[in-house]
Amino acid sequence: MTVPTSGDAHVELLLGAYVLGALTAEEDRQVTAHLDVCERCRTVFLELSDTPALLSLATAADLAEGLEGLEGALRHDESGGPARG
Ligand SMILES: [Zn+2]
Repeated sequence: MTVPTSGDAHVELLLGAYVLGALTAEEDRQVTAHLDVCERCRTVFLELSDTPALLSLATAADLAEGLEGLEGALRHDESGGPARG
């Protein structure tokens, strides 16, 4: 039977804020120390830390595409479609 000892708690719940840099200095230090010794939390951390990078990449690409698409649509609209009738 395993008895949890103080300071041995997993920090998965803090990892989201940790990745975003939203933790206090003390919490940040605790998480950093825990990641050093806990492979399970480190795996979660690596997955989470990849997300902002992926999101920013996707957002940049989506924005560029979205703007181009908008401009194209507006220009196409301005030039007018084929005459009806
Ligand atoms: Zn852990």
